[in-house]
Amino acid sequence: MLKMKKFNLGPLETNCYLLYKGKEAIVIDPGGDPEVLLDYINNNGLTLKAILNTHLHFDHIQGNAELSSQTKAPVLSPEKDRFLLSEEVGAGGFMGLPKTPEFEFQNLESGETSFLGSTCHILNTPGHTPGSLSFFFPDLEGVFVGDLLFHRSVGRTDFPGGDAEVLKQSAREQIFVLPDNTTIYSGHGLDSRVLDEKLHNPFFHENSFF
Ligand SMILES: [Zn+2]
Repeated sequence: MLKMKKFNLGPLETNCYLLYKGKEAIVIDPGGDPEVLLDYINNNGLTLKAILNTHLHFDHIQGNAELSSQTKAPVLSPEKDRFLLSEEVGAGGFMGLPKTPEFEFQNLESGETSFLGSTCHILNTPGHTPGSLSFFFPDLEGVFVGDLLFHRSVGRTDFPGGDAEVLKQSAREQIFVLPDNTTIYSGHGLDSRVLDEKLHNPFFHENSFF
């Protein structure tokens, strides 16, 4: 059975998720110094198989290089976001924030695949960034959406490549069609559920001013 543990990493307290089954694990968005994550992995005798990124903003990828070099796990990220690594929002280092250590990554295509023996639907959910991906694991009844959606809110679209209309379309067509009881695990803040956000997220109401 697939299990999940959440860590808050980095200066923006990004939600980082460790998924594991038996002694194998994957990580989604290591957004800061991964020491606490490495301790957990080592103390529990886990083998890290892959590091996934929902998108290439600095606060979701800070720990990629260190985690990958310590565990030899490959980094899998959306190629469409590669340009962000040349922008402040990907490279970091602005306003006193840490710089993103350089890392290699393989492109993660959308479609059905499996991690740790569990099905994963990799969904194209652009809007916050052009390459943003979401990861739906039916076994967990959960979807990891990065900064596409938050509890009663949505991700910013004023960074390079952001588009508010595209973001809303992604949420409606890719996330709100999942089973109502699916947990939404966001890149920051609280978890939510598909039904709750369909009903109560003010960004998706007809009379919305946004
Ligand atoms: Zn972001």
